[in-house]
Amino acid sequence: MTETEKLRSSNFIRNIIDEDLRQNKNDGRVHTRFPPEPNGYLHIGHAKSICLNFGFAQEYNGLCNLRFDDTNPEKESVEYTDAIQADVRWLGFDWGDRLYYASDYFEKLYEFAEHLIRHGKAYVDSLNADQIREYRGTLTGPGRESPYRNRSAEENLDLFRRMRAGEFKDGEHVLRTRIDMASPNINMRDPVIYRIKRAHHHRTGDKWCIYPMYDYTHCISDALEGITHSLCTLEFEDHRPLYDWCLDQLPVPCHPQQIEFARLNLNYTITSKRKLNQLVTEGHVSDWDDPRLPTITGMRRRGYTPAAIRDFCERIGLTKNDTVIDMSVLENCVREELDRTTRRVMAVLRPLRVVITNYPEDQTEELEAPYHPVQPEMGGRKVPFSRVIYIERDDFMEDPPKKFFRLGPGREVRLRYAYFIKCEKVIKDEKTGAVVELRCSYDPATKGGNAPDGRKMKGTIHWVSAAHALQAEVRLYDRLFTTPDPGRDENWRALLNPASMEIIPHAFVEPGLVEAQPEERYQFERLGYFCVDRRDAATGRPVFNRTVTLKDSWLKENKV
Ligand code: ATP
Ligand code: MG
Repeated sequence: MTETEKLRSSNFIRNIIDEDLRQNKNDGRVHTRFPPEPNGYLHIGHAKSICLNFGFAQEYNGLCNLRFDDTNPEKESVEYTDAIQADVRWLGFDWGDRLYYASDYFEKLYEFAEHLIRHGKAYVDSLNADQIREYRGTLTGPGRESPYRNRSAEENLDLFRRMRAGEFKDGEHVLRTRIDMASPNINMRDPVIYRIKRAHHHRTGDKWCIYPMYDYTHCISDALEGITHSLCTLEFEDHRPLYDWCLDQLPVPCHPQQIEFARLNLNYTITSKRKLNQLVTEGHVSDWDDPRLPTITGMRRRGYTPAAIRDFCERIGLTKNDTVIDMSVLENCVREELDRTTRRVMAVLRPLRVVITNYPEDQTEELEAPYHPVQPEMGGRKVPFSRVIYIERDDFMEDPPKKFFRLGPGREVRLRYAYFIKCEKVIKDEKTGAVVELRCSYDPATKGGNAPDGRKMKGTIHWVSAAHALQAEVRLYDRLFTTPDPGRDENWRALLNPASMEIIPHAFVEPGLVEAQPEERYQFERLGYFCVDRRDAATGRPVFNRTVTLKDSWLKENKV
C-alpha cells in the first residue's frame, strides 16, 4: 500500500460516499457539517467528529460547514460559540464563510411548521408534559392518541400562531408531528417539535417564546445548507426515520443522508459535556482548559498538538459499534510526534546539589549541546557548566543495587554533554540524616562525555548549573480518574484521582529557556515532553506542563 492508500484505508462511510459519487448522486458533491451545540467546550469525542466531517470534505474536494445547533437557549452562550470556533481552527480546519446558526433558520422553521399543520402533519397538543409521557407508551407497548390530535388545521394554525405571539404560558401547549402513536419506534410517536419557553437566546434575544426541538431543526438545517452526508453518532440511529419523515413532508431543497458512526470513548476520563461542566463548576478542576481534561482546549494547554490529535482520530478508525479506546493510544500519538519535533533540553525537577571539588571556583564553560540526537538541522545551543550543579535526587542512591548505573558513593557517571564525575563524599543533614549535597570530582579529560582511555560509562544523567539555571514551576499530570470507566458510576466524582496533578514549585531548567514562549514544547531529557503553560505564562515565571512521559510508564506502574 502506498502512503495515500493507507491513509484512505476503507471505512464504511468512505464506501458510501464512493458509491454515491459513482452514481453521481448530489451531482457529485460532498458537503458535510460539524454541528455542535454551544452548551460547553469541545472534547476529544468532538475532535473525532470534526476530523471526519472536515476530513471527508477535504478528501473529496467538498465543503464542510460549522453550524451551531442553538435551540436550547438556557444552556447556550457566546462564550461557548467563541471557544468552539477557536478549537476547530486550532485543530487545523477551516469553514470558510460557512459559519451557520440553527437560530438563523428560526423563521423558516416556523414557516415549515405551518406547512406541516396545513397538510395535517402536525397539531397543537394541550396535554401537559407528564401526560404526553404517559400517552407515549413504552418500548413494548403502543402509545395512545392525544384527545387533541384531531383538531382541524384551522384551529391548529390559530393556536400555533398564538403560541408564537406569546398568548400562552410556558408548557401550556406544544406542537407535535402527526405520525403514528403505534409505531414500534418511540421517536415516531408524534414527537414534539415546538415548545413554549420564555428564555433569552444569545442571538435572537427575546424575539421568540417558542423554540423548535433538535430533531426537527437538525434535518431541516442540513437540507437548507445543501448537506449531502449528515454524519452523526449512533444514538441517533433510531431518530433517522424522523429525520427522513420531516424532510419528506417539506418543500426543502434536498434530502441529505444521515449516517451514524460509533462515539469515541476513552478510558480513565469522561467525554460528556454535562459531566465536564460539573467538574468545572464544582471546582474539581481549574477551568475548561485544565490540562487534565479531555477538552480540546485542555489538551492544547497540556501540550498536545493538533497533528497528534488528528493522527489519533485517523488511527482509531470508524466503526458501527461502541468501543473504548485506551488512553495510551492517544498518548502514543502525542509522544511520536513530539519525539520528532521538539528540541531536547535539560531540567532538574527534584534538585540535589553537587559540588565538583576539583573544578575551579570562578570558572564557567559553555558546552556544546545539540537539540536533537538525529536531527542536526534543529541545531544546538551552549549550556553553561560550573562548580556547583543540580542533579535529579533519583539519580543518586546511597546504597545502590548492582544494576543501578547512576551515582552512588564511590561511583562514576557521565554528565550529559559534560564530564564524568565521581561521588567522593555524601553530606547529610545532621538532624534528619537526609542527603543534602554530594561532593564529586570530575575528570577533565572526559570533556564532551567521552574518556580518551576508552573507559565505558553505562549511566548518563542530566544536570543544570546552579548559578545559571532558571527557576520554574513544573506540573506533572496523571489520569483524571482512578477507574477505566468512571462515567458509568453514579458516584463518579468519588472516582477522581486525588494525585492527578503534582505541582513542583521550584524546579530548575537550563538558562536558555528564559526565552521560551507560551505553548512552546520541549523534551526535558529523561523526564518527558513539556509545554510552556499558555495561561500562566503571563505571570512572568515560566510554568511547564508535562504533556506526556517519554515512555508509557503508566501501564507498568499501575500493573495493568
Ligand atoms: P455530549 O454528549 O458531550 O454533550 P453531544 O453529542 O451532545 O456531546 P454536540 O455538541 O451535540 O454534543 O456534538 C456535536 C457533534 O459531535 C455531533 O455530531 C456529535 O454526534 C459529535 N460527537 C459528540 N460526542 C462525540 C463522541 N464522543 N465521539 C464522536 N462524535 C461525537
Ligand atoms: Mg448533541
